[in-house]
Amino acid sequence: MGLNKEAYQTILEHCFASGASLVAVSKTRPVEDIFELYNAGHRDFGENYVQELTTKYEALPKDIRWHFIGHLQSNKVKFIAPFVHLIHGVDSEKLLLEINRQALKFNKVIQCLLQVHIAKEETKFGFNEEELKALFEKKLIGTLSNIEVRGLMGMASFTGDMKLVEEEFKQLKQLFDSAKNYVSSMDTLSMGMSGDYQLALSCGSNMVRVGSLLFGPRD
Ligand SMILES: *Cc1c(COP(=O)(O)O)cnc(C)c1O
Repeated sequence: MGLNKEAYQTILEHCFASGASLVAVSKTRPVEDIFELYNAGHRDFGENYVQELTTKYEALPKDIRWHFIGHLQSNKVKFIAPFVHLIHGVDSEKLLLEINRQALKFNKVIQCLLQVHIAKEETKFGFNEEELKALFEKKLIGTLSNIEVRGLMGMASFTGDMKLVEEEFKQLKQLFDSAKNYVSSMDTLSMGMSGDYQLALSCGSNMVRVGSLLFGPRD
């Protein structure tokens, strides 16, 4: 299918107007598609699977900023720790500790977003509001010398009910604003995908993760 350049320009304009950045979600896409967008000047790409990400990292230019946006298992952190730019889906204390441990080993600081469960569905990963608050009050994050928590990430319910999606986005924005009182390094709110990124921007997102609008539908 390949890159839709017109869609790319439109999404960029929307992001620019909101002061947001665009993560091009390239999971399942061939390196040729990524390279085409890279040649258009884009540097932020998002992947969901560790194996796929490491293969693409090796094949593509080293100034790409790789975002890990999937569910990350603790035992796989070591494979992406040397090069990952931002891990969006940190959803447990155990994972935080392991990322810190691996970052220490590679003598770097890894940037993370905490994933928050905002959708009504049971299947989505993430902290709920109480768990997030408990994590902050424990003051663990400040002790992790090799992690920088940059913000929150969330996914709305998979539904055509845009009123519900809007409610969920607004709830996440509110959580983000109060979370900033606990963790001063927080400046990033990652929410919005192909079907809802404009709504997300209007609700205060400053990082959207868009795949199929850019590259066409996935199999
Ligand atoms: C796949 C994926 C996206 C992009 O989805 P599109 O609908 O193709 O834009 C965004 N965020 C996460 C976490 C994803 O897994």
